[in-house]
Amino acid sequence: MKVIRVPEKITKLLKAARNKGRHIGFVPTMGALHQGHSSLITQAKKENDLVVVSIFVNPVQFGPREDLNSYPRPLKNDLWLCRKHKVDIVFLPESKNMYPEGFTTFVSVEKLSNLLCGATRPGHFRGVTTVVAKLLNIVGPDVLYLGQKDAQQAVIIKRMVSDLNFPVKVRVLPTVRQKDGLALSSRNAYLNAAQKLDALVLFKALSLAKILINHGQQDATRIISRIKELINKKKQACIDYIAIVDLEKLQGIKKIDRDCMICLAVKIGKTRLIDNLVVKYG
Ligand code: AMP
Repeated sequence: MKVIRVPEKITKLLKAARNKGRHIGFVPTMGALHQGHSSLITQAKKENDLVVVSIFVNPVQFGPREDLNSYPRPLKNDLWLCRKHKVDIVFLPESKNMYPEGFTTFVSVEKLSNLLCGATRPGHFRGVTTVVAKLLNIVGPDVLYLGQKDAQQAVIIKRMVSDLNFPVKVRVLPTVRQKDGLALSSRNAYLNAAQKLDALVLFKALSLAKILINHGQQDATRIISRIKELINKKKQACIDYIAIVDLEKLQGIKKIDRDCMICLAVKIGKTRLIDNLVVKYG
């Protein structure tokens, strides 16, 4: 496994691989790798000749009062995991190489980036789309692997790839959960034992919404108020948003008469967690 830090080096190396006809899969991450990341890497290994994983805690997607400095960076463990999965190349850029002095170009997907998480985290998705656009240009993969866990991010990146004609196929893979339903996330590491128990309420709330819809409840407001009630029972939980939206434009749906996604963001103590569930209609 090669570990490469300099963008120009990996671009050159991968250009040569592409010229030899190698099919390249790419998994961008911020590290603190867990089984959610593993599932993307495993799938990428199955479908490509060469798999590139990037590990980069992208400063541009963090707000001024967010957890950029405290974000977990267990690099040794991450590299061990990548080796175990037989990743071919780990791209480990430094901020100064990704955003050298004078950097002023940003990629912003309008409308979609201001909804849901974008409303609470202004500028977050602009940071995400900027770094993903850069990474796609640097790596030049055939397939980009993303997780459904960050559903809004996946929708926005798909939009960007289509709008800007990036020659890459986007694959979105299912959310990997603990047995008790909690979606795996690098930020779960911030939770203490009591908070981990309270955090289970996210998936319980999503599951309740799904049951209500499957039993014929079509009124989104009613469903949302039922799951609000459930979440508010947890002392440490503070709701950021709960929404039931369509799958492409992420617009709120009032009457559930088509496939939809229930998505939510809840703070457990100081840790903001997100999760979502897609519910098929009929
Ligand atoms: P991150 O390191 O959190 O930026 O995530 C890197 C990629 O892994 C993103 O495409 C995420 O959506 C995906 N991912 C994170 N957690 C999970 C999970 N529990 N299941 C599936 N994919 C995930």
